[in-house]
Amino acid sequence: MKNLSDQIEAMNIAYVVVNSEMQVLEISTQASELFRVDGGQYLFGSNVSFIDEEFNFIDLPQQLRRAIEEQMEIELEVGLSYPDKNVEWAKLSLIRYKDFYIISLIEHGELIAARRLNRQLSTQDPHTGLLYREAFLSKLNLLEQNGTVCCVRICNYQRINEIWGTAVANLVFMEVLSRVLSELPSALCSKHSTDSFNLFIPPETAFDVERFYSLLNEPFHFNHRHFFSNVALGYYVEKEGDSHELSLNKAEMAILDVLTERVRLAEFQEELARQIEHQNNLETEFRAALNKDRLEEDFYVLFQPVHEADSQRVAGAECLIRWTLNGQFVSPVEFIPIAERIGDIGLLTQFNIGQLSRLVLKLEQKGIDTQTLLFALNISVVEILDVEFIDKLMSSITKHQLSPNQIKLELTESALIDNFNYVNQTLERLQGYGFRISIDDFGTGFSSLSYLCRLSFDEIKIDRAFVTNVVEDTKLQTVFNSVALLAQNMMKPVVAEGVETVEQLIYAKAKKVEYIQGFYFSKPLPEEEFINYLLERQHT
Ligand code: C2E
Ligand code: CA
Ligand code: CA
Repeated sequence: MKNLSDQIEAMNIAYVVVNSEMQVLEISTQASELFRVDGGQYLFGSNVSFIDEEFNFIDLPQQLRRAIEEQMEIELEVGLSYPDKNVEWAKLSLIRYKDFYIISLIEHGELIAARRLNRQLSTQDPHTGLLYREAFLSKLNLLEQNGTVCCVRICNYQRINEIWGTAVANLVFMEVLSRVLSELPSALCSKHSTDSFNLFIPPETAFDVERFYSLLNEPFHFNHRHFFSNVALGYYVEKEGDSHELSLNKAEMAILDVLTERVRLAEFQEELARQIEHQNNLETEFRAALNKDRLEEDFYVLFQPVHEADSQRVAGAECLIRWTLNGQFVSPVEFIPIAERIGDIGLLTQFNIGQLSRLVLKLEQKGIDTQTLLFALNISVVEILDVEFIDKLMSSITKHQLSPNQIKLELTESALIDNFNYVNQTLERLQGYGFRISIDDFGTGFSSLSYLCRLSFDEIKIDRAFVTNVVEDTKLQTVFNSVALLAQNMMKPVVAEGVETVEQLIYAKAKKVEYIQGFYFSKPLPEEEFINYLLERQHT
């Protein structure tokens, strides 16, 4: 016995030897300090109590007694809690030695502290002290109440961060948060992302959403500077029995809606959930359609004739893609953004090129001179920013025996202005290969003239929005006329798209617009109809 206890003592481990009644037979100095008892006494006779990592009291004497009865050796982490000093954390083990039991204690404070900190970091944001989503939801679930769930987003956080740095941006975040808490002290908050947080407002709290929203949007004053906050608020008023997690999703959806619509305060509407679900389904179906070997089964291309305004000769066509899902038409306005987002827009361009080459071949077989025709492909900003775009385009065109001289690439104004230098170089290279560059939807992007002067392009397509009501609306006329004049001064031809009536045609011609596209001449046509359209016009 002496031998063993000497060995344990030499290892600097606190130990106690007890009998089955928990009477101390032998005790090391350290253990005596920890348990506050001496030899001969009952081990649990002092004012020390025992707790677990969560600070809940545990009945250590009973646990040890049971281990002895069941002849088990145990090992547990335990905090020794004193009325007059800090908790000591130890790993406690009980082993049997002949008729005695040796309880040893190894100091464990650092590990427990590290573990507690880790747990805290995973549930709580260290900068703001806000709970993360999971912890927030567990806390809400304990409340067993339904209230109002909000998502607050500081829309200009990113800008503040860029201009004044992270420290100021964080100050603004904390300021908005403190406004929330001083207005609604009973609200529970959680971190959502760098620029947003969520809150739960209990049902008994008086809450005037309009007033709250204006309060959040009052300007800030730091260091003699004024900051305009730009806070968006999405919220959902829970019904009895609603799951907090779903409510939180709803408040977050409302804020998404807020961000797209440019309004800043929005209550969640069920219609929005339906739209989002529709979008998600569409995305799933779209991915499935693209993964098929034969895109022709779901996609096809229509060709909308473009006419010379004066001679009315067909100058070419715009290739417009179509998707049918379970027999239903889905607009490109809906699926092009999906294709851009999932990075598969290039596949559609290749498909367009394939279909175009088939058309050109058929036209040639019918004896139509395709060299006088120019075919327009819509190119998305995502593609133009892809460094391999030109290679991909060239290889697709070569594979399909088309020439760049037959093709016009339509890019929207906004695509051209972001990343101006890079995009402009790309356009120059494309022109070098023989492609023509057309600026689509012109007039909607508010481009500055200085950009336009430096941009390498060949043609302007004035947006349909300025054509549709141009005959009646004098404001639209002003825009239309100045775009036409601008193009003329830059010696670039103009295409007016969306021309539906003869009055619009006359108006466009009067403003020296060179090319006309629109329902006045023709809707976008399937391949065979487009061929017949050309054949008829060739003979008249
Ligand atoms: P966009 O490039 O501005 O195409 C013109 C749109 O106006 C087409 O709609 C066309 O059908 C429509 N349109 C033409 N003339 C008239 C008219 O007289 N009246 C009216 N009300 N509409 C007219 P669509 O085909 O639905 O295409 C919508 C947009 O989808 C296109 O706008 C284009 O941005 C995009 N898009 C279509 N096909 C493709 C494609 O293959 N690739 C890419 N990246 N985008 C495409
Ligand atoms: Ca276009
Ligand atoms: Ca357009």
